[in-house]
Amino acid sequence: ENYLTKRVLSMEESQTMRITGLAKKMKAEGKDVVSLSAGEPDFPTPNFVNEAGIAAIKAGFTRYTQNSGIPELKAAIQAKLSRENGLCYDASEIIVSNGGKQTLINAILALVEEGDEVIIPAPYWVSFPEMVRLAGGTPVTVTCTGETGYKMTPEQLEAAITPNTKALIINSPSNPSGAVYSEQEVRALMQVLEGKGIFVISDEMYDRITYGREPFSPGMVDSMRDWVIVSNGVSKTYSMTGWRIGYLAGPEWLIKACDKIQSQTTSNPNSIAQKAAVAALQGDQSIVEERRKEFQKRRDYMYKALNEIPGVQAALPEGAFYIFPSVKGVLGKTLGGNVMNTSADVAEYLLLEHNVATVPGDAFGSPENLRLSYAASIDELKIAVERIRNAFS
Ligand code: PLP
Repeated sequence: ENYLTKRVLSMEESQTMRITGLAKKMKAEGKDVVSLSAGEPDFPTPNFVNEAGIAAIKAGFTRYTQNSGIPELKAAIQAKLSRENGLCYDASEIIVSNGGKQTLINAILALVEEGDEVIIPAPYWVSFPEMVRLAGGTPVTVTCTGETGYKMTPEQLEAAITPNTKALIINSPSNPSGAVYSEQEVRALMQVLEGKGIFVISDEMYDRITYGREPFSPGMVDSMRDWVIVSNGVSKTYSMTGWRIGYLAGPEWLIKACDKIQSQTTSNPNSIAQKAAVAALQGDQSIVEERRKEFQKRRDYMYKALNEIPGVQAALPEGAFYIFPSVKGVLGKTLGGNVMNTSADVAEYLLLEHNVATVPGDAFGSPENLRLSYAASIDELKIAVERIRNAFS
């Protein structure tokens, strides 16, 4: 271990993975665990997408492809960005990678180095600060609370900027809070950045899973067009988490740099998965709407049921499939013989003594919250809520 680099030692292990692993182990031991810790839809990949993958194998489409993705998929991505996000990108401004995660690390490795600061509003998706650290940069987190719907205000952004600020990472709809920035809110944030030479990495992974408020891409703000990098993928929208296809759109010079990094590390994303992604993006989109509606029912249930539990206070998520209640009301109390000092204590207690897996907010920079995923059936959600109610009473 003494031989490990500072780069790796500065990173933290993914807490989401830790709790999920523990829950899996308990399940394997025969315990009846309800898991609300997953970061993926519980629905299967749509059949027409699977069929496209099978057809690709049968046609022998199983070899290296263009490093940055096949032209057919880039065209489907261009059409998607234009149709659903109002964004107009040339094929040379798009790269396809192994999941949204790789698009983000490529962009961060290309832009961030020692001495650079990257502003990240908290609660944040767990990997953002760790990726910045891996690149040698310094994550600067800005705490956002329930009072602003877990969103960063222009004043907070302004205050976080220093001469070393290289980029802002924004994720709307948000994992873990489900918050969606309105057009007005996005424009106000972009106004702060205008003319300052600061990049915006916009993670739009959950853009098709929203409940009323349409997300607005910072790439739509004309004055920031050359400074915005949009990351998205097929993982969540089409229940394709295992296929590993994500994409990045941004200035051509940056896309070229990402292409270079990718060519020397992983090469092209999986050829079969690329064909399946074409089918997903170009096929009948009604399944996306059906699933969105199902998520909305579950969100409505969770919001109401959790807020009825004393000590729990949840904001209404506007997107993604997570709810991020504050459990401040139970912190400091003794439950199951242990003092609940942090949300990590609460998550551990819920899992070990009441068989409900959640993820502590500490992992997302919000130590008073818990993240519950409602990518589970209503029946499972009901059992989980009942167990939490018992656990806290
Ligand atoms: N961005 C956010 C906000 C996510 O929640 C996730 C997945 O959990 C990703 C990116 C990564 O997606 P992928 O599985 O395509 O790498």
